[in-house]
Amino acid sequence: MGYVDEVIESVIEKTPAEPEFHQALKEVLESIRPVVEANEELYRREAILERITEPDRQIRFRVPWVDDKGQAHVNRGFRIQFNNAIGPYKGGIRLHPSVNLGIIKFLGFEQIFKNSLTGLPIGGGKGGSDFDPKGKSDREIMAFCQSFMNELYKYIGADTDVPAGDIGTGAREIGYMYGQYKKITGLYEGVLTGKGLSYGGSLARTEATGYGLLYLTNEMLKCNGKDLKGKTVVVSGAGNVATYAIEKAIQLGAKPVTCSDSTGWVYDPDGIDLAALKEIKEVKRARLTEYKNYRPNAEYHDGKGVWTVKCDVALPCATQNELDLEDAKALVANGCFAVAEGANMPTTLEATKYLQENGVLFAPGKAANAGGVATSALEMSQNSERLSWTFEEVDAKLQSIMVNLFHNLDDAARRYGKEGDYVVGANIAGFEKVVNAMLAQGIC
Ligand code: NDP
Repeated sequence: MGYVDEVIESVIEKTPAEPEFHQALKEVLESIRPVVEANEELYRREAILERITEPDRQIRFRVPWVDDKGQAHVNRGFRIQFNNAIGPYKGGIRLHPSVNLGIIKFLGFEQIFKNSLTGLPIGGGKGGSDFDPKGKSDREIMAFCQSFMNELYKYIGADTDVPAGDIGTGAREIGYMYGQYKKITGLYEGVLTGKGLSYGGSLARTEATGYGLLYLTNEMLKCNGKDLKGKTVVVSGAGNVATYAIEKAIQLGAKPVTCSDSTGWVYDPDGIDLAALKEIKEVKRARLTEYKNYRPNAEYHDGKGVWTVKCDVALPCATQNELDLEDAKALVANGCFAVAEGANMPTTLEATKYLQENGVLFAPGKAANAGGVATSALEMSQNSERLSWTFEEVDAKLQSIMVNLFHNLDDAARRYGKEGDYVVGANIAGFEKVVNAMLAQGIC
């Protein structure tokens, strides 16, 4: 058995209850096989794969909080500090009832390679809680966020670990967490990113993941002799990533026709009405059922279904494993020629394989959605400098990061004879930099 297979088997044996982590592990390790085989003796001696698959630290803690009726609740808090070979741990905080150790570990593991791909000095981490922010009042959200930070503050800092937003954690939650960190430590430092503009946030951070996704998709299409202009795009999700992916797709001349949330999805043949979507999700924090009130010609359907709509380009922007083999078959049958992942690991391994085998250009999340964390790193730079850059400056940097990132993974795929396989390219390009840093820093 080769080194890659030995490590996959041993990690799975040691972590039996973490299927999402196993999925990410297999995707990464199997695609870096050629690099490992070319350096097997060295990597084995230095235990590179054993070290990169074992987090530096897994922190789990109790988060007690009291609701508006005086009832106490307890949630579980997690922070995984996975690898800091190239910079402080960096990764978001997910608040969703599905959160467990395996999910946070898969996200933290992916984050190592994503952060490396940005070309910026940031290591990989992730955190979260099984707290469900839906239906909670602002006071309850504040109570939870303060309690979460009462424990988390011990482990984070501007030069050690810098959390950010993710599913369920937006500007409001980051604000409450930042306030509590400041209260406990007395420090006014860039310890969280995604902050509000009035207290150290970066312009364009809100838009960054969705915009970055479109910058990378556009570059991928251009390099393959195609263009986004005039193309029909299907998008899943209706949160931060989906909203700004839709906005940039419209700006680039494409027509996004769908969006979705966890209860249903919208098909608007005239193109998604961005102002309506923002009002429903960002202002009213309501369900997509309301969309028809704004656009009577649109269709609303319960459940899942965006991948059945005829399209040229598909952008999964909701959550992990939302695009499976059946969905991939429907996309191919309908003529979709490119899929770029706005969410983390939204496409199952079988679906990815099917799309690639059927000639669909496929940009994996660790590359395609790296614009968010890249702009978070730009927020860290501005905080260190105590300066704020303009929207245009940040957006221009984001655009150039995403274009360079695409060429790095394209080059890495070519170097290993896998031209056009951007999954392999992203994993190899991300992995090489981290491993070189680990080798230089010795066994630690
Ligand atoms: P949001 O919470 O803003 O939005 C998430 C969207 O996905 C909502 O529309 C939500 O619907 C939907 N969704 C969540 N869980 C499910 C589910 N189990 N089934 C169906 N729909 C679901 O999160 P973001 O937009 O920030 O994040 C979306 C994805 O992008 C995640 O995978 C995240 O890790 C990834 N990502 C985010 C980055 C960022 O900067 N925000 C950066 C890089 C990656 P509902 O509201 O009904 O729950």
